[in-house]
Amino acid sequence: MKNRKVLIVGTGIAGTTLAYWLNRYGFEPTLIERAEQLRTGGYVIDFWGLGYDVAEKMGLLPALKEVALPVDGLKIVDERGKRRGGIGPRAIRSMLGRRYLSILRSDLAKEIYGALGGGVRTIFGDTVTRLQQDEAGVLVEYRSGHSERFDLVFGAGGLHSPIRNLLFGAESSFEKFLGYYAASFAVDDYPHQDPHVFVSYSVPSKQVTRYTLKDGRTVFLFVFTAREKLSIPHGNAQAQKQVLKDEFAGVGWECPDMLRRLEENTEIYFDAVSQIRMEKWSRNRSTLVGDACACPSLLAGQGSALAMAGAYILAGELMLAEGNFQVAFANYERSLHPVIESKQRAAQKFAKSFAPQTHAGIFLRNQVTRLMSIPFVADLAMGRMFKDSLSLPPYESIQPSA
Ligand SMILES: Cc1cc2nc3c(=O)[nH]c(=O)nc-3n(C[C@H](O)[C@H](O)[C@H](O)COP(=O)(O)OP(=O)(O)OC[C@H]3O[C@@H](n4cnc5c(N)ncnc54)[C@H](O)[C@@H]3O)c2cc1C
Repeated sequence: MKNRKVLIVGTGIAGTTLAYWLNRYGFEPTLIERAEQLRTGGYVIDFWGLGYDVAEKMGLLPALKEVALPVDGLKIVDERGKRRGGIGPRAIRSMLGRRYLSILRSDLAKEIYGALGGGVRTIFGDTVTRLQQDEAGVLVEYRSGHSERFDLVFGAGGLHSPIRNLLFGAESSFEKFLGYYAASFAVDDYPHQDPHVFVSYSVPSKQVTRYTLKDGRTVFLFVFTAREKLSIPHGNAQAQKQVLKDEFAGVGWECPDMLRRLEENTEIYFDAVSQIRMEKWSRNRSTLVGDACACPSLLAGQGSALAMAGAYILAGELMLAEGNFQVAFANYERSLHPVIESKQRAAQKFAKSFAPQTHAGIFLRNQVTRLMSIPFVADLAMGRMFKDSLSLPPYESIQPSA
């Protein structure tokens, strides 16, 4: 096999899945992650569709079901905590079927990484600062000072992928800001708890949702609209917390309790809700995978699934092409690009109803959620988001035996 020695930048959902399949097909992947260890904590994701199929092929379902979170639905409440709308378990099943899990993003990444069984070299606490591609390979310079040659390099660093920036230039050329910000953090001993239920409260242009995890911690997801991107330095947690406090100051229900808990919490996820839209994902001996090139945004509720599907297809095409990366990258882009475009269009359409901007909009959204157990209504409201127009080729059963 040609081009076996490969570098994958990022140990998120896409990077670890890619490492798993490339390793299985006889490549020699190295993973590099800028964090000192796998990222922990974070938000709860819905996991189904193509990602669920890939996880099944990897034999991960028993472990994922073990760590999955019990979810009986979504309850939308008013200022006094009284139910005003929501989606029950029946509606969830009618939309997504039984092949569906709610899981912490970090647990999914951990289980995929665990499936590597220690068989993939992983460098934590470092990143790539320079790439030089030539006929024979790619010279990679690490932040830590040394350099190394690889045959191929894959950028799997998520929405703010450094490899995309090195290969294709500034993020602003590819980022489509959808007009929202999202923030998430978790606390211990939160006094208000509704086991197994997402509880959500909205005022015009703002929404907050809480869920109690198995270990008793409660995780919050705040969403608010913004006309344009805010100028907060990326990763400045203090500034991010201040924005959140300002945005939700004066908002009722449990918001004051939640915001108070920001003080004691050091880790916060805070980011613009954006998509990454690119015509080409590959350049010479490097390509991108997952959110790095195809982020559909959290509004698609399927970014992890698509990241896994992308990694599975990329690895499968490389195996089929026996390392001929030009052929593999072209096939990978050809099969996945239309799917991503369609998911991105659907997510952008859905964005308008995500955090309604008026009281009337909130009322209407609540009424629609009440009717979601009727398949026709669910299909009308969310159908395009939930349908996968791609079925995964069975690469793993056609791999060459050598
Ligand atoms: C609030 C929220 C809710 C979501 N809900 C859902 C949902 O319900 N369902 C769903 O399927 N998806 C959901 N998503 C989307 C999902 O989390 C992403 O689509 C998915 O994580 C993308 O995987 P990835 O591997 O491309 O990127 P990531 O998972 O972001 O991983 C990128 C990795 O690269 C590392 N990295 C970054 N920069 C560098 C660097 N310079 N050098 C080395 N490493 C680097 C990061 O530390 C990270 O480990 C949600 C996202 C958010 C924010």
